[in-house]
Amino acid sequence: MQQFKAESKRLLEMMINSIYTQREIFLRELISNASDAIDKMYYKALTEEGLTFNKEDYFIKITADKDKRTLTISDTGIGMTPEELENNLGVIAKSGSLAFKKETEQKDGHNIIGQFGVGFYSAFMVADEVTVISKAWGANEAYRWHSEGAEGYTIEPASKETAGTDIILHIKANTEEDSYDEYLETYRLRAIVKKYSDFIRYPIKMEISGQ
Ligand code: ADP
Ligand code: MG
Repeated sequence: MQQFKAESKRLLEMMINSIYTQREIFLRELISNASDAIDKMYYKALTEEGLTFNKEDYFIKITADKDKRTLTISDTGIGMTPEELENNLGVIAKSGSLAFKKETEQKDGHNIIGQFGVGFYSAFMVADEVTVISKAWGANEAYRWHSEGAEGYTIEPASKETAGTDIILHIKANTEEDSYDEYLETYRLRAIVKKYSDFIRYPIKMEISGQ
């Protein structure tokens, strides 16, 4: 088990303890990352000879399985090498650290989440377990990054056919105060996508299964 950097761990703990009204933005953050990853393929195709960007090959897919309580955000973007999984997900990325610095100046624990892009860690607002399976473009091997929260994370080899990334969230169980079931419901997911991700230029597909 590898440890998160101290700053990351604090942001992560804030995410875990977020309040209801902030939670839905996790989907905006993950879709935005998926879109960025496809953008990177697009720019690669522009600059690399012999590589073309076939529009129909690039999309974002949201899959919910109510029986397993998983919500998966998949993209056919550039993917991540194990080094990138380590460097990009083990520490706070640029936008996250900027938000975090502002927040510590203000000493207002909840303000920043809505105001800034908090990034990948926002997954922990709705998930008690996050698995990232990624295959970098041009690589032969895929890797799995896994974390159950502030304790740390692991990275190990995995299998995945095509380049891109699957972010698999195990949705938290409902508590007396909080309901998380809604993040497995078509109507709710559709509404969140429409509210925050309507401008995304790649198709966002949705597939819900289970009772
Ligand atoms: P930001 O998007 O502001 O850089 P995030 O915390 O959202 O911060 O993401 C951190 C980094 O992790 C990204 O910059 C990117 O390098 C990597 N990353 C996250 N999601 C994906 C993805 N779906 N595909 C490829 N890389 C990703
Ligand atoms: Mg991001």
